[in-house]
Amino acid sequence: MTATRPPTPAALAAELAALVDGEVLPGDRPGAAAGFNVATVHSPDLVVHASSAADVAATVAVAGRAGRRVAVQATGHGAPAAGPGTVLVVTRALDGVTVDPAARTATVGAGATWQQVLDAAAPHGLAPLAGSAPGVGAVGYTLGGGLGPVARTFGFAADAVRSLTVVTADGELVVVDPAANPERFWALRGGGAAFGLVTSMTVDLFPVARLYAGGLWFTAEVARTVLHRWREWALTLPDTVSTSVARLDLPPLPSLPEPLRGRSVVHVRVACVTTAEEGAALVAPMRSAATPLLDTVGDLPYAALGAIHADPVDPMPVAERGELLRELPVEAVEAFLTATAPGRSPVMMAELRLMGGALARRPRVPSAVGGRTAAAHLHVVGVLAPPVAALVPGAVEDVLDRMRPWSTGASLVNFAGTPGPDADRRVGAGVGPDACARLAALQAVTDPSAVLTPAARWTAPAGGASCA
Ligand SMILES: Cc1cc2nc3c(=O)[nH]c(=O)nc-3n(C[C@H](O)[C@H](O)[C@H](O)COP(=O)(O)OP(=O)(O)OC[C@H]3O[C@@H](n4cnc5c(N)ncnc54)[C@H](O)[C@@H]3O)c2cc1C
Repeated sequence: MTATRPPTPAALAAELAALVDGEVLPGDRPGAAAGFNVATVHSPDLVVHASSAADVAATVAVAGRAGRRVAVQATGHGAPAAGPGTVLVVTRALDGVTVDPAARTATVGAGATWQQVLDAAAPHGLAPLAGSAPGVGAVGYTLGGGLGPVARTFGFAADAVRSLTVVTADGELVVVDPAANPERFWALRGGGAAFGLVTSMTVDLFPVARLYAGGLWFTAEVARTVLHRWREWALTLPDTVSTSVARLDLPPLPSLPEPLRGRSVVHVRVACVTTAEEGAALVAPMRSAATPLLDTVGDLPYAALGAIHADPVDPMPVAERGELLRELPVEAVEAFLTATAPGRSPVMMAELRLMGGALARRPRVPSAVGGRTAAAHLHVVGVLAPPVAALVPGAVEDVLDRMRPWSTGASLVNFAGTPGPDADRRVGAGVGPDACARLAALQAVTDPSAVLTPAARWTAPAGGASCA
């Protein structure tokens, strides 16, 4: 008896093209899966630009039968590279957003960005739990936890999910919610694509039309004063205030405000879910830390929340990684200052984000999101551009190493950095051994042939994410 050989990519492309409405492209077609992080270079057998949930379901079913694995990408802000033997589903065309103002929910397609959800919710005075960069995909962000600019007030985005429509590893389209499939509902929120390709999700919206929010930009010459003031101030804040502080070396781009162009700066990001008067009083101690180069903190429409962090929007090659900090003593701030001293490192940005508040509370419906008890989150980003590209990955690690004494050794899924055993170990540490074992056990049942493994962290070929 001869074993059936898997179809060639060309034969698989022909089979898929007959079944799906979206485009089926060769994996080596330049730009077939271009995304935000241009350092991610995919080399799948095929790229399928899905135009409907049915396209996603057909692709997973056919690819799985053909012995291929299936990866997914929306905006490419965080996708690991899809390699040979993989079919990459691009969901960007599934970008529908509908708002139910009475139920205070939005139903969001897998390809929609947060800005699309913000814009759809704003006319109703409602707010989704978007991330700092509104160009990030709402679904990918949410499945990875979702630590946003108002997170201390409302918690992780994953905890605001009501239901998900999902293509399972065998190509079935199912609704997953606390009643219909509680274990998969728990796992998808935090465990992500390992438990299905989401075609849409329904999330809670919050009655917030405006924030008192923005950024205080200081020259790095006053970094020590500002960082220590930020630490003292941040540790006193109520849950209505979320904040982070970043050391940035900005390029001399004309798109940046003139006072910031080409400068080494400290950027205090703040969002108060309060009246403008209350917000001004809360921010006053930070405002008086030193004379800012630029002060954009004020009354802000919620839909403009991207202005708080002012993250880059154009595609770029980045190396980045985050780790959770168990505490934030004075010594940690000193180490951060040393690690990010101007001229010392080619890292573009290092950020300390205050956690606590609603992030530390148990969600209404439990989820697999880890890291709830951390005091702060450290995020380091470098741009892999000449002449420093080769130095950047080591420089990112160097900042993390200097903060090691206060690190939990764990990472949130959305900030895990380059995929691999080290990222798996850190993500596993964040989720914790019990939840990690529960995820691995569920995945063994829901995806025994590891069709969805390229996007997963819970069942590596060697036998599992580091749950120990
Ligand atoms: C500039 C910038 C700012 C960021 N800010 C924040 C922030 O404030 N808070 C935060 O928590 N994170 C933040 N992130 C991280 C971001 O949330 C993750 O990279 C997230 O995975 C991006 O999702 P995406 O769909 O846009 O990206 P993609 O690269 O398209 O997808 C990333 C991953 O998401 C999963 N995924 C995407 N779509 C689906 C789907 N339909 N079904 C199942 N799984 C899917 C897959 O695992 C995929 O590999 C930021 C990233 C960048 C680059």
